[in-house]
Amino acid sequence: MQMREIAILNLVGSTSSLHPEEWNFIWRAKVLNKIRVFGWKLCKDIMPTTSNLRRRRCNVNEECPCCKDSVESTEHAMLSCSFARQVWALSHLPWRILSDCSGSSKGWIRRVHSELAGEQFDLFLVLCWAVWSSRNKALWENQLLNSAQTVAFASSYLDSFIRAIPQRLSTWSGNRVAYKFASLVSSFPVGIVVLPESIAALMCVDVASFD
Ligand SMILES: [Zn+2]
Repeated sequence: MQMREIAILNLVGSTSSLHPEEWNFIWRAKVLNKIRVFGWKLCKDIMPTTSNLRRRRCNVNEECPCCKDSVESTEHAMLSCSFARQVWALSHLPWRILSDCSGSSKGWIRRVHSELAGEQFDLFLVLCWAVWSSRNKALWENQLLNSAQTVAFASSYLDSFIRAIPQRLSTWSGNRVAYKFASLVSSFPVGIVVLPESIAALMCVDVASFD
């Protein structure tokens, strides 16, 4: 697997259209922007899974880097892989809701969004991102997969983010998005940012300590 090929896959997402209403369920999640963008890529099924790479004629082994037991589709990586299933079991999010993955990735995530409370959906997105991050560490850094550590990391990450900037507000206005902070914290490099939605959706105004 080559980094250049993965970069191309990531680029596909950055040029696609972003309808504001259609994607509100992702952009309104109270998580870091990079995790929102990850959720959007998940919906679009453009993550560089081995299956997606093969579909784009990249010469890679299709087997899942985590379980080595199946083709790695997005559905497999996020849900049916033995590693992902361990993470969801430890998360205490309702498996009955998570496991309804019939149809598209977007349909799956929309259903999860409609069934879970706001904070639970935020945790769901962070866990998806954490599962993918652990998968990448296993693939690229030969780090052992550990579901308990992945869940603990995701929970702590989300909790720390919420506690660090409790007055942060995220609102939409027409076709523009505004990230408003009720107060500026000197160590945080963001005040008020207003950008066209297509740019805002992809920008990263994350707090440095969470990168
Ligand atoms: Zn697997």
